[in-house]
Amino acid sequence: MNDSWDILTELESDNSRLFKESIITREAVANNSEFFDGIKLALDPMITFGIKQVEPKTNSGRGLSWAAFIQLLDALSSRQLTGNKAINAVAHARMNATEVQWNNWYRRILLKDLRCGVSDKTVNKALTDYPAYAIPIFSTQLAQDGANPKHESHVSGQKLIESKLDGVRVITVVYPTGRVDQYSRNGKELLNFDKIKQQIAKHALFFSEPVVLDGEVMSSSFQDLMKQVSRKENVETDDAVLQLFDIITLKEFKRGYGDFRQIDRSVTLAAWHSQFPDHMPNVEVIGHELIDLDTEDGQIRYTQINADALAYGYEGIMLKDPLAIYECKRSVSWIKVKPFMEVSLTINDVEEGDGKNTGSMGALLCSGVDDDRDIRVNVGGGFTNQLRAQIWANFTNTPVNWTKIVKKEPITYTENPTGDPIVGQVVEVRADAITQNQDGTYSLRFPRFRHFRGYTIGEKL
Ligand code: AMP
Repeated sequence: MNDSWDILTELESDNSRLFKESIITREAVANNSEFFDGIKLALDPMITFGIKQVEPKTNSGRGLSWAAFIQLLDALSSRQLTGNKAINAVAHARMNATEVQWNNWYRRILLKDLRCGVSDKTVNKALTDYPAYAIPIFSTQLAQDGANPKHESHVSGQKLIESKLDGVRVITVVYPTGRVDQYSRNGKELLNFDKIKQQIAKHALFFSEPVVLDGEVMSSSFQDLMKQVSRKENVETDDAVLQLFDIITLKEFKRGYGDFRQIDRSVTLAAWHSQFPDHMPNVEVIGHELIDLDTEDGQIRYTQINADALAYGYEGIMLKDPLAIYECKRSVSWIKVKPFMEVSLTINDVEEGDGKNTGSMGALLCSGVDDDRDIRVNVGGGFTNQLRAQIWANFTNTPVNWTKIVKKEPITYTENPTGDPIVGQVVEVRADAITQNQDGTYSLRFPRFRHFRGYTIGEKL
């Protein structure tokens, strides 16, 4: 059997993925269980050793057996050994190991970084026929984009609305014993939020089994935070606040999906936190609100929440399906939308389009006053081809053709003038933000037409 440190050197010697996979498969065929135990200990993110730094070594020791090293790893991962005792035990193992054993194998396992261009995905791909050696994959629930036409239809119905915070995703695993581990969304262990961990640890007893608290950590500035997340020394995260938004059990998380509905999870999380918010100044729960986007009241509230999100500088809004379970993958149960604003503007003129919109409407030239700001903007997006044709027909008082592809064949339709005026009508326009022009007037960033104020052309206000 090849020594594991030699296999790692071999893996490092060639950057080709196929080469690396062939070495891993070769070891699986040879049933090199010691090698795969080590690979799993290094790459399974849920196994952690609670140590930040492991020194390399330059002189050789008499050698450290795999059994002795495994014993050390067990004591570290179960936290039987922590603090100075852990540091001393690692130093002792380092002294005994040979140079290649330590630098090319044991140290890399302790640091959870194999340094040979082999990730969990590479290993698992090479192990398709040897699932017993495969590495559990760490994955979290992710959101689909509401601006993507494929997912637009999910911006409807009952939704739990939350702010989308612009921080760093943190998965916190809490054990009833008081042990708390934190991970990035890719499963990299985060060791720099001690204050947050300690505050959560105090209330771990509340849980009858290990749970995962899902959230976003925020700091005074995003740049700052990015530096702190991976820093090894001079860590300053005292002002960092963990904003939690979900909770599932560790068992469910490892399985890849949970059993409980979003609304129940959100309520459970808020109830847990509300018992001792004073004890956890660096841990908060993101507020949520249930609204029905299919109702007029829901839409009014939605527009209001968007305006607030813009005003407070949030990155966006999350719309969550209140009945959906937690799934460790990207899904439409969570939809992210950028915050937008809506303004009512009057149409002053209509411009013909070019390209595929030649002979139809290109843009509405609009103006209006919002919050004492004089807005002037050309609105050219957000229209269906049919609506473009209808507006142009009314504006020019002549029939206008438009085409639609049905079963790969273009079919031509005609919109006839209805006699309703276009100029002077009021339209609702959605945009990302108000911007100021050089002449002091205001415009809109990414304006898109939503609807006529009366919902159909010519409907009286
Ligand atoms: P994205 O990375 O753009 O796909 O958006 C998903 C990310 O938004 C998550 O990984 C979180 O880091 C972040 N996020 C911020 N606020 C929330 C929230 N309330 N719920 C879920 N994710 C959030």
